Amino acid sequence: MKRFCIRWDKRPRFVCDVHLARVAKYLRLLGFDTVYRNDISDDELIGRCRFGRIGLTCDRRLQKRAPESIIVLRCEDAQKQVRRLDAVFDLKRYALPFRRSLCCNRLLVPAEKNLDIPKETYRWLTGFWRCPRCGKLYWKGTHTERMRQKVYSLLDYQKKC
Ligand SMILES: [Zn+2]
Repeated sequence: MKRFCIRWDKRPRFVCDVHLARVAKYLRLLGFDTVYRNDISDDELIGRCRFGRIGLTCDRRLQKRAPESIIVLRCEDAQKQVRRLDAVFDLKRYALPFRRSLCCNRLLVPAEKNLDIPKETYRWLTGFWRCPRCGKLYWKGTHTERMRQKVYSLLDYQKKC
């Protein structure tokens, strides 16, 4: 990744181009406000950068239209791309994992135990969150352990914290 002229001293917010679905999902998993749609236009992406978001793209031509606020990510493994962003924006410092809906970027809200959850899972669960937009439920369980491991590896932690 080239060096950037972007200076950042607060929690970064992002907008991803259509090719960066997985990067967007990982950034949301880490708690970063990340706009992603599979139909976002170049103009909209640039427009959102004017409101303080950092644009992420694989397209150098797009980056040239707003070089001060758009970063070109080499098209490679999404995990590597996130690690590169960590090196630039110090994501470790600002990460708040498991706070956002992975599908629509909203902050999750606490939810009551929900009867749709299988009873055998139900008993030992302690926390439930709901996305206020899509209604998806998130809860502590084996799948969150897998996601926790993903967070550790995205941020390249040497050991669990
Ligand atoms: Zn959602």
